Amino acid sequence: MAGSSLPDRPGSWQVCAGCDRELPSSAADARCPDCGGLLEVRHRPPVQDGAKLRELFLSRRGRTGRLDASGVWKYRELVLPEAGADDVVTHPEGNTPLLSRASVSRFAGVESLHLKHEGHNPTGSFKDRGMTVGMTQARRVGARAVACASTGNTSASLAAYAANAGLPALVFVPSGQVALGKLAQTLAYGAKTLLVRGDFDECFALVRQASEKLNVYLLNSVNPFRIEGQKTIVFEALEQLLFDPPDWIALPAGNLGNTSAFGKALKEARELGLIPRLPRLACIQAAGANPFARAFREGFVRPHRVKAETVATAIKIGDPASLDRGIAAVRLTHGVVTDVTDEEILEAKAVVDASGVGCEPASAASVAGVRKLAAQGVIRQGDRVVAVLTGHILKDPGLLLDYHREREPAPARANRPIEIEPTLSAVEAVLSRQSP
Ligand SMILES: *Cc1c(COP(=O)(O)O)cnc(C)c1O
Ligand SMILES: [Zn+2]
Repeated sequence: MAGSSLPDRPGSWQVCAGCDRELPSSAADARCPDCGGLLEVRHRPPVQDGAKLRELFLSRRGRTGRLDASGVWKYRELVLPEAGADDVVTHPEGNTPLLSRASVSRFAGVESLHLKHEGHNPTGSFKDRGMTVGMTQARRVGARAVACASTGNTSASLAAYAANAGLPALVFVPSGQVALGKLAQTLAYGAKTLLVRGDFDECFALVRQASEKLNVYLLNSVNPFRIEGQKTIVFEALEQLLFDPPDWIALPAGNLGNTSAFGKALKEARELGLIPRLPRLACIQAAGANPFARAFREGFVRPHRVKAETVATAIKIGDPASLDRGIAAVRLTHGVVTDVTDEEILEAKAVVDASGVGCEPASAASVAGVRKLAAQGVIRQGDRVVAVLTGHILKDPGLLLDYHREREPAPARANRPIEIEPTLSAVEAVLSRQSP
């Protein structure tokens, strides 16, 4: 491993957030070897100014080259400029739609509401945007295997990208707490899957110890290269709005990797002159897994840790790993953090689903949060809002069936199936009873 001086500084390097030690971008350390702090990737700024960069990115639309076709690598100047087309492990990913649906806007109480649907990624969540960069980095450092702890989507994504890269994958997930679609994907893509009798926070502690012992490359959300990839959710949404930034960007917040990525993306976009002003971040937690919201309400004077409990398993995290970066992102953007109950999440999800868009439970937290903040007057009627839907509706089919078919008493928005005899008269009887 290279020392702390980097005489011939390449396009990218890593910096410790704790002690400012610099490491080459090729270092495989999961944390700072001196102080254990989180690492961050820095790049030499691109030669183009903001206007030229905007033009460059817009000119890549519709191009089919290996890098340009990816919604992550089309922003390579801001992601990992030194990776060559041959290094890159890509599906491709990104290029997700920015949707608007009148019924969802009405429900949220915001006229201009766009839904950035990250469920359209290859494995059905935004995790693919970080994983393409993380897996590329795993190959660059010569990793012989990769590992993560996960509430499900990271493991599905890691498994798929490891298969693409030809690397063995090891995942740690909390036993009995992973949504069915995510577990099925992880197994099918071929990762060695350990069902840990513990919660996510215990899985995370375990994978960190194991990766050090076994010399396996760690691809959790604290991995700084994953953060670089996840920044492109923001770049792409800004580009879709022709770089006229919205007033708010709302996202569900769990381990705060994505919140960190959004903060870094916005900081860079502003510094590079891609956008003239910063949108505010609205970070939404589940009320039963709300350490970040609790800390925000106290002005971030101390960290909180809770025993997490929520139907939104992707954000069921009691002790967020990227807390400091999450705080920095909220401070930078004059953002807010709030929390919503499981009832509010399920109601928002039912509205998003019934609009034909659909999303997984954690994703609906962003819409539920926008509704709450709009009702409180924090988000104003005329504000332009982008809410990120982080995962696909089919990630959690068990919860869907419970909600619509089994839950007693039936929720107001439940759509009960009707079982009938195989006769036309039975169909007619149903339709005459239920005609609109
Ligand atoms: C991972 C994930 C989140 C939470 O992101 P963090 O980076 O952990 O805050 C939210 N929604 C979905 C669908 C996810 O997969
Ligand atoms: Zn350090």
